Order: sequence, then structure tokens, then C-alpha cells
Amino acid sequence: MAKKESMIDKIKRLMYQTDKIRNIGIVAHVDHGKTTTTDSLLAGAGMLSFEVAGKACATDFLEVEQERGITVQNADVNMVHEYKGEEYLINLIDTPGHVDFGGHVTRAMRVIDGAVVICDAVEGVMPQTETVLRQALKEKVKPVLFINKVDRLISEIKLTPEKMQEQLMKIIYQVNELIRKLAPEEEVKNWLVNVQEGSVAFGSGLEKWAMSFPFMKETGLSFKDVLDFYAKGEEGIKELQQKAPLHKVLLDMIINHLPSPKEAQKYRIPRIWNGDVNSEIGKHLLECDPKGPLVACVSKVTVDPQAGEIALIRTFSGTLKKGQEVYLIGKNIKTKVQQLYVFKGDQRFPIDELPVGNLGGVVGLRDVSSGDTVSELPDVAPFEELKHLFEPVVTKAFEAKSPKDLPKLIDALRAIHKEDPTVHVKINRETGQNLVSGMGELHLEIIEDKLKREMGLDIVTSPPIVVYRETVTAKSPIVEGKSPNKHNKLYFTIEPLEEPIYKALESGEISVEKIKKKDEEVIQKFMKYGMSRDEAKRIKGVHNSNLFIDNTRGIIHLGEIMEYMLQAFRDNMDAGPLAKEPIARTKFVIHDAKLHEDAIHRGPAQIIPAVREALREAFLQAKPTLLEPVQTIRIDTPEEYMGNVTKLITNRRGQLLDVQQEGGNTIILAKVPVANMFGITGDLRSVSEGRAVWFLVDSTFERIPKELEAETIKRIRERKGIDPNARIA
Ligand code: GDP
Repeated sequence: MAKKESMIDKIKRLMYQTDKIRNIGIVAHVDHGKTTTTDSLLAGAGMLSFEVAGKACATDFLEVEQERGITVQNADVNMVHEYKGEEYLINLIDTPGHVDFGGHVTRAMRVIDGAVVICDAVEGVMPQTETVLRQALKEKVKPVLFINKVDRLISEIKLTPEKMQEQLMKIIYQVNELIRKLAPEEEVKNWLVNVQEGSVAFGSGLEKWAMSFPFMKETGLSFKDVLDFYAKGEEGIKELQQKAPLHKVLLDMIINHLPSPKEAQKYRIPRIWNGDVNSEIGKHLLECDPKGPLVACVSKVTVDPQAGEIALIRTFSGTLKKGQEVYLIGKNIKTKVQQLYVFKGDQRFPIDELPVGNLGGVVGLRDVSSGDTVSELPDVAPFEELKHLFEPVVTKAFEAKSPKDLPKLIDALRAIHKEDPTVHVKINRETGQNLVSGMGELHLEIIEDKLKREMGLDIVTSPPIVVYRETVTAKSPIVEGKSPNKHNKLYFTIEPLEEPIYKALESGEISVEKIKKKDEEVIQKFMKYGMSRDEAKRIKGVHNSNLFIDNTRGIIHLGEIMEYMLQAFRDNMDAGPLAKEPIARTKFVIHDAKLHEDAIHRGPAQIIPAVREALREAFLQAKPTLLEPVQTIRIDTPEEYMGNVTKLITNRRGQLLDVQQEGGNTIILAKVPVANMFGITGDLRSVSEGRAVWFLVDSTFERIPKELEAETIKRIRERKGIDPNARIA
């Protein structure tokens, strides 16, 4: 008798059948049941024992997650499912739901083609439902919908069948409204979720059943049957689990409605890859070609105590092989694949090859970080830079209690940055004060926990510090920058960058890595947001949300010093003249230059200080000010605490944007400066007897009120040891 094929052998076999692969993620607002549903799905697919699923939280295997109940890291699984007599390989990435960790979600989206959006049947669409959908659609990841916790509508809220259908239709309508608003124009029609077609399912992750319209047709089961099963109590629910298993319905939906890598790469490559899709390599990528040269993209890097760094990678062309030498594009690094793995929950199994269109783990890539493009060719165009939804806005200093732990702390912080690049880390070996920046207080608290508990480090942290931006509000006069040898003179202005372009740069709609000569692609990107062709042609550099523009004509030798000017531009935009906070939202324009004939007298040591001087002077003469981070939050509170909650918001310099009643609940949308957000979770709890909760909706930078400007600059200067009396404007 032939030996039964093991699960791992099956996975290895299916990896070569590109049309039988689905790379997917599950996304949801926090607490809508992503972990529970994932566990039930894995149990059904034979990855976890059936009884423990729903309680085990297999994907929540980090200690902090179990305590907080938030999935922080992705856990990745490759699994097999049979649909209409054919076997499929489903590569599932687990993504966290909490917006404070949006970075994880963004990076996961790059390497998947489809997403199951989970929505709580009782709560409906919530702020993070919108956020995760936005992230998916931006990367052209196609969604399907699972409405979870339908058991609550039945046993707890006891809706009539009509009311229940009404509630489900309302959620579907809301999700489709978001898809209409956020999906790529050309895909909207195909991507709206639809009950009849079966791109919507509903059920209970906890009680492990689900239904979809095609499934009901196939089995003859009806909505009324579900209610009848529930009426029978525990036994009935068990029967329902057998008749309508969650994993079958969801995996059928995934296979049927989400694209294979072959289908998806046709339309995703132009969006996510920087190169020319008509080139030779572009064609291999569009076709998801197994015979093409290897091109792959790293989604994240985790540090494993045994294996060391493991990069989660997706192959987009060709095959990644054990022992292969590859390049990390843009980093000038040639490195070697030591091990390759597929995943089964928190276990991994070695493989020899990762064929095109698959997700797997790779060990051995030196200096790899998330977002990297990996190829066997040294000069292939990279994937688009990953833009995170929000910039870090809060910083804390982390110090080791005992100086001998400092090297360990530095290593640990580096590892954390690798795993989550939205965490910015500035190491200072001299003072031992390492600055860690994240997207909010909770984000930093989780890092602190991780260092203390998982890594056993004894550390102290400073109170949280707000990250500001410096900008200008008017156009400066032309300012001269002179080189130290006085032989070169450069003439610059600085002015505010137009709002639509600033927004597009911040959100990643415009993303520019390198500007080539006559770069038509870059020109078009800026023109789309209202810049004139003539001006767009003159952009020579982009750094954060600042542009370097060359307004000169026919100056000989200017080309030769351009690289030095750009270097000075980039370096000095990171620390402005007011308080050494990063500069944002400006156009720095060169109008004229007088240069020494001899190249020796116009080297970097001359040009860089001249640009620095001009930038500083122009900046101070252009009505500079600070931008402060402001977060839009949604607060859900029982009606009776609404007065308390609004008072708390106004006391914190907050502004109410919208107030709505829904049942006995009040939903408040408010804008609060990050400087006044610290401790808000605890305060909200105490004014509402623990009932009010808040979620981050948006994070932006806005002009600081005039009356706070001078005092804030003074405070930052004191903290950084800058002369408090240095000129402000
Ligand atoms: P996540 O934050 O999206 O991963 O949500 P979890 O899976 O941790 O679920 C949040 C809470 O909702 C937990 O208390 C779950 O037990 C509960 N939950 C999840 N799915 C269901 C469901 O289908 N029905 C009910 N009644 N509760 C559920």
C-alpha cells in the first residue's frame, strides 16, 4: 500500500501549482474575533485540536498578548483545503488588529493577495475596520467579508429573523460603502462584497460554524435552520458545527473569491513594484513566472531564539533556493540563503525551495529588514517603499538600570526595530539614554513589557515625550549661503509646501526613492496633485515631506555639486533650527549659484556648510512654527457618562467633531493633541466606571496654538540641552 502523503509533503507539492495557491490575511477591528476565528479555522483544517480552538489562542503565543488579548506579532500558517475535488494551498498571515501597531498590518499586506475582513455582527463597522480595509485596498489586496458573533444576535440580543437579516444587510452595506470609497477605481465593481455570489459569510468563530449563500444552496440549510439548532441548545449547536463547519465555509469562500498569485500579480505589480512593467523583468513579475529570475519581497523579520533572524518572504518571480546567493536590493549586500521553511502555527518545517507565488521563512540573509527586495540579479528595481499609516509621535528614553546591561539593551532595541520598523530607535552609547519612538503610549508600553518580561532586562524609562515637526508659514526672501572658503555662493528660498502634495507625501500616495534625469514617472505623480509640469520637472530631491527644487538655468558645474547639496538638504531637514525637531512640509528652492572654477574648491566640505547656512537663515525668515501631532479618536460610552467624557476631552485641549447616539450608546469623534493624550485610557475608565473605550482613527500634524509655541520650543530646547536664547525668528 502506498504511504499516506504527510501534510508537509502535500504543502511542498502544492507550492508548485501557482493557480492552486491563495496568500491571505485576516483583518479586523480589535475584539471582533480575529484570533478566535483563526483558531477555529486552523482546528478545522487539522492544525489544532478541535476542542481547544476558540480557547487556545494559538496565534496569541506571546506572553504579553495573552495578558492584553491583542495579537501583536503575525503568526503564519501554510495549510491545505479541498474544494470541489481539488486541493489548494492556503498561506495565511495573521495580522494584528490594533491600530497602534498599524505597521505590522501594512507590511503583511504587501505579500498577500486577499483578505478576510471580520466584522462583529453586533458592533458593526468600527474605526479599525476602516483602517485595515484602507491598508488592504491601498496595496490592491482583495477583500471578502465574514460577519462574526452571529450567535450573539440569536441568543443574547434575541433578534427576530427579519431584524437579524436587516442587521447583516446593514453591515454589508457599510463595508461596501468603504470599498466604494477606498478601492482602486478599476476594481471597485468586482470587489464589492455580495451575498448571492458568496463573498460574504456569517457565523460564529467561537461556536465554529458559518454560512454563505452558495453553501446554503448546496446543503439546503436555511437561516431558520440555524435558529432551530440554537433553540435545541448545546446539542443543536454541536449539530450545526457538524453541518456547517466554519473552516469549510470560510476556506471555500477564500478559494472561490480571492485570487491566486498568478491572477493577482497581473494587477498588483504595477501598484507595488517600482520598475517598468514593460521590461523583461516586469513581464516575469506580471506573469508570476516560475522560470523568471528570482525576485522576492520581505514582509517582516522576527528574531527566533534558536534559528536567529527569520525573514518572512514572498516570491514574485522565480524560485528561492536553499544555499542560493542573493542580493538585497538598494543595500549593496550579497548574502546567502541558509535555511528555508514553511510554517504550521508556531512550528516550522525545512524545505529546499520556495517556488514563485509562495510565502515562507528564510534564515541567513545578512542585514535583512522588512520591506527589502531580494533578487538573484544585482540591479532589479525594488518594490515600492512601505508607507506606514501613521508616523511615530511619542518618544520615551529607555535606560538599563545597570550599565553592564547596556549592550544587551542595545541589541534588544535593534531587534525590536527590525521586527517593527514603525518603532524608531536612536541609540546613544555615551549617555546610555536610548530614545524609542512609537505611534502611541500603548505601543511603547508593549515594547517595555517585552524587554522586561521576555528578555529579562532591568530597565527604567522616562515619561513619554511628544514628537513635533518644524515648518514655515511664509515664503522667505532669497538668502545667500557662503562656503567656508568664500568662493562659492548659493541662493535659496524656503516656503510652505502645498497642502495636497504634503498630504500625498505623508500618506504615501506619492512615494519617491530616487529621481532619475527627466523622470516622467515622478513628474506625473506630482502633477496629479496639482503641481505644474515645469515645477515638477525641477524637483531634485524629496526628504520626508520636503522638496528640493532647482530653479536655476544653465549654471555650469551645478550638476557636479547637486549630490552634496542634496546630502546637506537631507541631513538638515532632520533637525530644524527651532528645536532640532524634523522639518516638514516645505519647498527648499535654489535660484542661483556662483561657483569656483576649480572642482577642488567646491567639494563637499565647502558646499555642505553653505547649504546648511542658507537653509537655516531662510527658515528663520519664513515665519517658522511648530506642528504638533493631533489624534482623532472615537470614544464609545454609555449615554449617562457622556457629560463626563466630553468634559474630559475639552479639559485636554480636545475638540468634539461629532456625537451620535446608537441604542444606549454615545459615539464621540474628537481631536486631541498627543501632548494631552497621556493617561487618557485610565482617565476615561475612571469617569465612566470602566465603560468608555477609545480607538485611534487618524493621526496628523497641525499648527500648534500661538500661545503655546514659545513655551513648547523652550521646553524641547531645555530637554535637548540647546541654548534656550538662540534665535527663534
Ligand atoms: P480579536 O481581538 O479580533 O483577535 O478578537 P478575539 O478573537 O480575541 O475575540 C474577542 C472576544 O470576542 C473574546 O472574548 C472572544 O471569546 C469573543 N468572540 C470571538 N468570536 C466570537 C463569536 O463568534 N461569538 C461570541 N459570542 N463571542 C466571540
